Amino acid sequence: MAPPTSTATDDKTSEQRWESRAVTRLIEAGCAAECPHCHERVKYRARHRDQQVICNVYTDGVWQRVEQYHAECYGDAGEPYGEPQ
Ligand SMILES: [Zn+2]
Repeated sequence: MAPPTSTATDDKTSEQRWESRAVTRLIEAGCAAECPHCHERVKYRARHRDQQVICNVYTDGVWQRVEQYHAECYGDAGEPYGEPQ
């Protein structure tokens, strides 16, 4: 029995790319971030269940900051960090 020789799949998992990415989340109570698009607070409103897009911003593989957009603003901004997951 020969050992598995699938280097192709190994390459895919070991090469981790630290790129900017975005996720959609519900806005939580106590959130006080400013939306970089409209410059208004991303504020929690009871019973509204508003969505935000949280972006981890990387430059050359180095983490820079987190940006929090209103869900609509992220779309208006042209999804600068890709499609939210
Ligand atoms: Zn906004």
